[in-house]
Amino acid sequence: MKYTSTRSNVQVTASQAILKGLADDGGLFVPVELPKLDVPFSRLKGMTYQQVAYEVMKLYLTDFTEEELKHCIDCAYDSKFDTEEIVPLKKAHGAYYLELFHGSTIAFKDMALSILPYLLTTSAKKNHADNEIVILTATSGDTGKAALAGFADVPGTKIIVFYPKDGVSPIQKLQMVTQKGDNTLVVGVDGNFDDCQTGVKNMFHDKALCERLDKAGYQFSSANSINIGRLTPQVVYYVYAYAHLLKRGVLEEGQPMNVVVPTGNFGNILAASYAKAAGVPIDRLICASNENKVLYDFFRTGVYDRKRPFVLTSSPSMDILISSNLERLIYALADCDPDANAALMTALSEQGEYTITPDMREKLKDYYGGYASEEETAQIISRIWKEDHYIIDTHTAVAAAVYDKFREETGDSKTTVIASTASPYKFGRSVMGAIDPSYDSMTDMELTDAMEALSGVKIPRAIEDIRDAQILHKMTCAVDEMEQVVTGFLKEK
Ligand SMILES: *Cc1c(COP(=O)(O)O)cnc(C)c1O
Repeated sequence: MKYTSTRSNVQVTASQAILKGLADDGGLFVPVELPKLDVPFSRLKGMTYQQVAYEVMKLYLTDFTEEELKHCIDCAYDSKFDTEEIVPLKKAHGAYYLELFHGSTIAFKDMALSILPYLLTTSAKKNHADNEIVILTATSGDTGKAALAGFADVPGTKIIVFYPKDGVSPIQKLQMVTQKGDNTLVVGVDGNFDDCQTGVKNMFHDKALCERLDKAGYQFSSANSINIGRLTPQVVYYVYAYAHLLKRGVLEEGQPMNVVVPTGNFGNILAASYAKAAGVPIDRLICASNENKVLYDFFRTGVYDRKRPFVLTSSPSMDILISSNLERLIYALADCDPDANAALMTALSEQGEYTITPDMREKLKDYYGGYASEEETAQIISRIWKEDHYIIDTHTAVAAAVYDKFREETGDSKTTVIASTASPYKFGRSVMGAIDPSYDSMTDMELTDAMEALSGVKIPRAIEDIRDAQILHKMTCAVDEMEQVVTGFLKEK
C-alpha cells in the first residue's frame, strides 16, 4: 500500500508518510486505494480492542511487520487507559455514546496520540533517519496535551506545542503548562487556533528553515491530525463499535448504523468515512459543528468560506475555521485529481473560499451537516443529565444536539453511535454551569469536586495530577515570533 499526496502524484510508503507528516507540495498523504477489512465481523466481534486495532491498522501500515505493529499497539493501549474496554459504549438519550476519553489526557486525541510516538520512532528506524525528530504542533486544546503526554522524554524526539493563549479551557491550559519532560516546550500564542495552525504549516514549508535544521541534526514532524499516523488509529474504534453492537445484539450483521461526530479539523469524521470504505455498514456520517459552522454551510451550499468572525465557544477544540482534513475529502470528491484539489486549496488560502462543482456535491450524500448554538449545547447537557443521569462534555453535547435535529428533520431512527470526545471533567465550568448556573461562583477545582459528588463518576487521574502541579511553561509569543521560538529552543538544547 502506497500513499500519495492530495496535491501531486508522489508516492511514499506508510512509514515515510508518518515520518514526514505533510507532503513537500503542501498536500496531505492519502492511501492510493482505501483498503477493505479482510476478517469478517463474526470474528471481529469476539476480539479485544487491541486485536481489532491490529486487524485495522495492518491494512494501512503495510510496511510495518506484524511484530512491530503489535508492539506499537500493546505499548499504546495499556493501563494508561482507565478501563480494559479502552472505549466503552454507553446508551443514553436514544443513542450509543462511544466514550473515547479514557486515556491519559481524557480527550479522544489520546486514541491516536498514545500510539503515534511508537509509530513515529519505528518509522524513523525503518527509514534510517538519524536526525532528532521535532514534533511541531498547533493545538486547540486537546491535541497539545495528548501529544505532550505521548512524546515527553521519548528518546530522539523533541516536542513544541503552540496553543491560542486565550482560546483554551482553564483545565486544558493547566494540563499543558504543567507538562514535565526536558524535551518539551509549551507556548501560548497571541492569536487563535487558525493562526497557530498556519504558523506551524508555514514552518513545515519553509525550505530554508528546514535545511538549516537538517544541518543542525533536526527534522520536523507533525502530531496534528494531518499525519496519517493519527488518522489510521482512529478508524479502529468505529470498527470496534460496530463489532461491539453486534456482540450486544443491538444490531445484526449487515444492518447499518449512523455516526455523529463533533467536528473541528475533520480528522475524526474522516476516519469514520475510512471505516465505512473498509466495510463497516455506516449509513450517514453526521458532522456536528459549533457556532464556527463553516462545515455546516459547506455541506448545505458547496461553498467553503472561512471569511467570517472566529467565535470562542464552550467547545474550544472545535473552534476552527480551516478544517485541514477536509482536503482529503475534497481530493476524493475530485476523483483523486491532485490539480483540481490544489486549485481549490490555493483559492482557500488566497481568496479565503472555494466552491466545489455540482458533480462533487452529488458525492456528498453520505454526509449530513448540522450545528448547535451555545444555548442549544448547554440545554442538551442539562436535559441528558436530568433525563438519563449521564453527564456529557460540551463537544459531545454539540453532537447530541445536532443528532436531535437530524432525527427530527429526517425521521431516521437507525441505531446511532455518537463519538464522545472528551471527559466532562475537562470542561467542568461550562458543563456544571449548564446543569445549574449557581455553580458559576466556584473555582475550577471546586467544580471538579462538585461534579464528582453529583455524578458519582470518579475524578480521573488526569485531573488529580494537575491539582497541585507546578507551572513549568510560562512562555507566550506573537504570531510572527513562532519561528524564533522554535529556533531558540533547538539552539539552547
Ligand atoms: C479535537 C477535538 C474535536 C474535533 O475533532 P477533529 O478530528 O479535529 O474534527 C472534538 N472534540 C474534542 C474534545 C476534541 O479534542
